[in-house]
Amino acid sequence: MSYPVTLIPGDGIGPEVAHAARRAVDATGVGIDWEIAELNADLIVKTGQSLPQSVLDSLHRTRVGLKGPVATPVAGGFSSVNVALRKKLDLYANVRPVHSLPGIASRFSDVAIDMVIFRENTEDLYSGIEHEVVPDVVTGIKVITRTASIRIAEYAFKFAEQVGRKKVAAIHKANIMKLADGLFLRCCREVAARHPHIEYKELIVDNAAMQLVMRPETFDLLLLPNLYGDIMSDLCAGLVGGLGIVPGANMGDHHAVFEAVHGSAPDIAGKGIANPTAMMLSAVLMLTHLKELDAANRLQGAIQKVYAAKKHTTGDVGGHASTEEFTDAVIAELR
Ligand code: NAD
Repeated sequence: MSYPVTLIPGDGIGPEVAHAARRAVDATGVGIDWEIAELNADLIVKTGQSLPQSVLDSLHRTRVGLKGPVATPVAGGFSSVNVALRKKLDLYANVRPVHSLPGIASRFSDVAIDMVIFRENTEDLYSGIEHEVVPDVVTGIKVITRTASIRIAEYAFKFAEQVGRKKVAAIHKANIMKLADGLFLRCCREVAARHPHIEYKELIVDNAAMQLVMRPETFDLLLLPNLYGDIMSDLCAGLVGGLGIVPGANMGDHHAVFEAVHGSAPDIAGKGIANPTAMMLSAVLMLTHLKELDAANRLQGAIQKVYAAKKHTTGDVGGHASTEEFTDAVIAELR
C-alpha cells in the first residue's frame, strides 16, 4: 500500500530540504506516491495566480502535503501564498513542537526544552484587510472570531489529553486589545473549564516573551492567536538551536500540510548547506498523521542519533556537513 502525498518544494532552500526529507521518508520503507506541485514566487509572478489551482487540486486528491517554504515579497507585491493555502484549506491549527536535540550547543543546551505551540492559523492581523484611509494613514484590521478561537483552543486541550501533557498557557494582549484579544481569551477560558484536569494559565505576550527566555523549561503547551504564534515560534526556535530544526503541521478537519517553521532562507539558498532537520521532522509529523508510527519513530530516532554523534550536522547548529551529508547520515542510521 502507498500513500498519495503532495510534495511542494517551494522557494529558496525549499527544494533542497524537500528533496532531503523525501529521501529520508523513502528510506523508512513507507510507500509514498509523491505528487510534485510547483508553488514558488517565480511561478506566481509568471502566471499571475497566487495559488495555482493545480496545487489545490493535488491537495484535494491527496489530503496530505509536505511543503517547503514559499517566499513573500515585503511591503508590496503578491499576498502570502502560505496564508492563502492555510485559509483555502481551512488548516486552522498550526502545531509546532519545539524540543532540544542532543549535541546542539545552543545558549540553553543545559535546559530541557519540550513545548508545543498551537497557533491559530486563519485570522487575526493575517486577514490581509488593510486600507489607506488618506495618504500616509493606513489601517489594518485584526479579525478574531469565537469559532476560530474555540477550535484552536479545543485542538490544544484535546492534544494535551491525548498525549498526556499537563499545562496550557494562553498568550494574549487583552489588556490593550480588550475586545479582540479579550474574545480570544474568553474562548480559551471556556475551553479550559471543559478540561479541568489540565492546568491553565494566561500570560500577556510581552511577559510571555521574557518568561520563555528566562524559564523555557517551565512551558508545556502554548496557545496563541496567529501573529503572536508566528513571532513566538521563531523565539522558541532560537531557544533550541534555531529555525533549522523546528518542524510544524498545518491541520484542518479534511487536510493536513506539514512544513518547517523556517522560510526560504534566500541568504543560503542554492549553496547545499541548509539544515533539512526541520523538514525531516515535519515529515515525522506527517508519518505520525498517516499512522506509520514505527517509521515515524525510526526517522526521529535516526535524526537524534546523528545529532548525538555530532559528526554530520550542518553549519547553523555548529557543524560542517552539507545538506546531503547530513541526509546520508540519517539514512545510514535508518538502515
Ligand atoms: P527565514 O526563516 O527564511 O530565515 C531566517 C534565518 O534563518 C536566515 O538567516 C536563514 O539562513 C536561517 N535559516 C532558516 N532556515 C534554515 C535552515 N533550514 N537551515 C539553516 N539556516 C536556516 O526567514 P526570513 O529571512 O525572514 O524569510 C525569508 C522568506 O521566507 C520571506 O520571503 C518570507 O516571507 C518567507 N517565509 C515563508 C514561510 C513559509 O513558507 N511557511 C515562513 C517564513 C518565512
